[in-house]
Formats: sequence, C-alpha cells, structure tokens
Amino acid sequence: MNKETKLIITVDGYSSCGKSTFARAIADELGYIYIDSGAMYRAVTLFCLRRGLVAGGVADTGRIISVLPEIDITFRRDGEKGYSETLLNGEPVEREIRGREVSDNVSAVSTIAGVRVKLVELQRSMGKGGGIVMDGRDIGTVVFPGAELKIFMTATPEVRAKRRYLELVSKGLPADYEAVVRNISDRDRIDSTREASPLRRADDAVILDNSVMTPEEQMVWFRKLYEERANESRD
Ligand code: C5P
Repeated sequence: MNKETKLIITVDGYSSCGKSTFARAIADELGYIYIDSGAMYRAVTLFCLRRGLVAGGVADTGRIISVLPEIDITFRRDGEKGYSETLLNGEPVEREIRGREVSDNVSAVSTIAGVRVKLVELQRSMGKGGGIVMDGRDIGTVVFPGAELKIFMTATPEVRAKRRYLELVSKGLPADYEAVVRNISDRDRIDSTREASPLRRADDAVILDNSVMTPEEQMVWFRKLYEERANESRD
C-alpha cells in the first residue's frame, strides 16, 4: 500500500460517536471522497415521512417498497471536499434529515431489506473506484467486505448523547437532552438486533473507542494505523 493506492476505508459504529467528523477528516487528509451512508437512509426516511408511510417508529413496509423506484438520492459536491449536501429527488434536504422526526423514524425504515438492497447498490457504485471513506453501520461487513482498512468506532452512551446534543444546539436545531438519550439507545438497539445487516464489527475491523479522545488525537491514532498498514504491505 503506497500513497498512490486509492483505498476503500470503512468507518462503522454506534450512533453519534463522531463517525462522520472522523471519516471526513480522514478523507480530507488523504484527498479522498467522503460518503455519509446514514444520510441516504435519512433521506429515504424523509421521503416516507412526507408520504405518511412511517410514523411513530412504525413503517409500512409494503408501501415503502413500492415507492422506492420514485426515490433518487444524490450528493452535491462541495469543492474538493467530497460529498456534502444530500439531495432527495434534486431537493437539498441536509438540514431536514438531521431533525428529530427523521432521527426517530430512520431505524424503522433501515430495517427494511428492500431499502437496504437499493442503498447498498448505490453505495457500491459510488465507491467502486476506491479513494473513498464511507461511514455507516454495515459498510465493512456488507457494502465493502473486501475494504483494505476498516474501523469500528465506539464511545460510552453518555459521551455520545452529550456530543449529539451539542451538535444539534450548534446547528440551531431543537434539542432536548432526554430525547437525545432515548433516541441514541433506541437506535443502538434496533440497529444491532435487526435481521438485515445488523450493526456489528467486521472481524478485521480495528476498534477505536474515542470516549476520551479529541479529534486531533483520533487523527494521530489513524495516521499510525495507516502507516502500519503501509509498512506491512511493503514487507
Ligand atoms: O449515521 P447516522 O446516525 O446518520 O444513521 C442514521 C440511521 O441510518 C442509523 O441509526 C441506522 O438506522 C441507519 N443506517 C444504516 N446503515 C448504514 C448507515 C445508517 O442502517 N450504513
């Protein structure tokens, strides 16, 4: 593995442990494209909410499958920094997909196998040339099982709830700490126990517990891992 090799790097893990901040920083450093697979599940959920196909965490599986062909998800590139803004049928929805209604319903929509088939196909087509960092729940296990570098992130539930709460506040979105705690534990449970592609660490993924790490410390950790892998492949 040399610097010219365009890898696929996967970052999976629990809700709100800073996957996207970390994945984006790696992509910036290596000049790779960053892809937020969670944004795709969120955009499908927004579409379903607008059609009344999911509510209160309960999804109408049959009807959702029948509307899937009507859903087109793309990302608008922000300069050289990779994918940033999520578009649902051409409409920018980045802000709306981060809101509470979507967060409360996304795990129900994500359990539907047909939804996953559609999004996994899209994710594979976006990553086929390598040179990408993709974060999510099943990227190292299902989407790119052959990826060269896999990271599984975790942090204590308290740390994650606090981070998520502060993120919502900083974006000017409505934030209620107790609701955030509930949402994180519900999503952890649903994402880890669902039948289709449950959240689990790939056997060859390296664990990063960032409960007491700063973003800078995580990058130091990553650079070391990246160099180790580069040296291994030179031996
Ligand atoms: O990453 P984020 O927290 O935005 O993801 C939102 C939800 O989308 C997750 O809680 C999970 O239900 C679903 N998801 C998934 N598979 C992925 C990425 C996200 O099921 N690869």
